[in-house]
Amino acid sequence: MVASLPAAAERLPVTITSPSRPPGTARAIDTLGVVYIAVNDFISTLGLPFGESVETRKIEFRLPSYRLKVTANNPFLVITNLSNNSASVHQLSNPSLYEAGVYYVPAREFVRVLSFIWKSSVTFDAATMTMGIDVLPALATFDITDFVVEPKLNGYLLTLKASRPLGDVEAWLKPDGWLFVTVTDARADTVALTKHVPAGPITKVLVFQSATSVQLTFRLTSDVVKAEVVDDRSSPHLQLSLRTQNAVERAELERSRQASVRQSLERDRDRWKMDAIVIDAGHGGKDPGTIGVRGTREKDVTLAVALKLGKLIEERLKDVKVIYTRTDDTFVELYRRTQIANESGGKLFVSIHCNATRRKPSSPNGFEIYLLRPGKTESAIDIAERENAVITLEEGHEDRYQELTEENFILVTMQQMAFMKYSETFAEIAATAMSKSLKIKNSGVKQAGFYVLVGASMPNVLVEVGYLSNRSEEGILRSSAGQAKIAEALFDGILEYKSQYEKGIQPSVGSHEGR
Ligand SMILES: [Zn+2]
Repeated sequence: MVASLPAAAERLPVTITSPSRPPGTARAIDTLGVVYIAVNDFISTLGLPFGESVETRKIEFRLPSYRLKVTANNPFLVITNLSNNSASVHQLSNPSLYEAGVYYVPAREFVRVLSFIWKSSVTFDAATMTMGIDVLPALATFDITDFVVEPKLNGYLLTLKASRPLGDVEAWLKPDGWLFVTVTDARADTVALTKHVPAGPITKVLVFQSATSVQLTFRLTSDVVKAEVVDDRSSPHLQLSLRTQNAVERAELERSRQASVRQSLERDRDRWKMDAIVIDAGHGGKDPGTIGVRGTREKDVTLAVALKLGKLIEERLKDVKVIYTRTDDTFVELYRRTQIANESGGKLFVSIHCNATRRKPSSPNGFEIYLLRPGKTESAIDIAERENAVITLEEGHEDRYQELTEENFILVTMQQMAFMKYSETFAEIAATAMSKSLKIKNSGVKQAGFYVLVGASMPNVLVEVGYLSNRSEEGILRSSAGQAKIAEALFDGILEYKSQYEKGIQPSVGSHEGR
């Protein structure tokens, strides 16, 4: 529907004067003594941010702390207070007029509304057809005033400087390298934002301002692979972490790889001395591991067993150094555990865990000793998946762990060839020792793909000491006496293995083993 303008309409421009801008004119219509002023011209004269919906015939513009919406042929002005996002409606005595894309509102009432929300004097004189604006308070105040980029270990930190806490923010990195950041109810200083480009990974900045939001578009160099809003309410500034395909991390991995090669060479020299054992208490910190029927946490059992086992070794095998991956309730990333082991020159890596079925309570029970090899049975794969799931708690895990696919396994197991026979020997000895002294059933030596064992350059096993999902076994695992028994049994296994190892067990393995 198109409303026609009153026939007796008279057209005279209104002059808009303000102290800080050159005077401008706005189209106006005088009908039956009511002067209507063109909202579009008012907006452009003052350079206000605005947006228009052509379909719904609404125009909206932004003042320092308010937003005003005018609808064609409608008597309601919608006023949104940006400090608390509350909207109120002001009813005009006459509906707005609309003609050829221009919105007209009664000038006198419009001026009253403006004076109120602007808290300054805005006047309209019908005799001289002049609209006077005293001051343009804070119109130069932008919500987003500037940005800085700082290099960080994982990439960059992009900080958008804000003069007040910002509303809703959406950030989206397109695969083609454009980062879109949309901030609701904010006004950005385009000049300041575009002046220091290029900066860091940013090669271009575009600002799209509308009355209701601003969209900042950053062109990024191709090494940025991820962008995330940093949730920090302590500062009004908006921070985004821009992650790069991390050169630093790659260098670190390479360094530790070389270190472990060096150490394995050194180890060759005194390989027949079983002088360092790495004990890895599974889980910890934010990762409780599996939870038993009575709420026993895997991380507590594994730590208790690990500390008790370590103490036994320290007391009874004076020539053996014990290295722990953790000695308290802290979160240690899986890759870090093998790194600790490799850097310490360990001769054996024992990772301690507790098993569980998906549903509890349940009957499955017994201890199992795992070697790192592709999982053969469904239950072995299941257990490996559960134990590996912790990596999702680690920051940056996507880049750190290769999926344990068949091919990766071939590589990984090749790296482990040198130790596999030793790992098998230890697993068998430990299983025998444990079944001798424990009330927990021996469920055998098995194999599965545990991340924690990948990369360990020494014989290694993962021991699932029992099932927390089994009522009676949980009773053993949660008791200090039960934990001590398990530690004793593992110690017996280590003692036996040490004696065989030092006598020179030389299992037939890969050709480079000859010595
Ligand atoms: Zn576990």
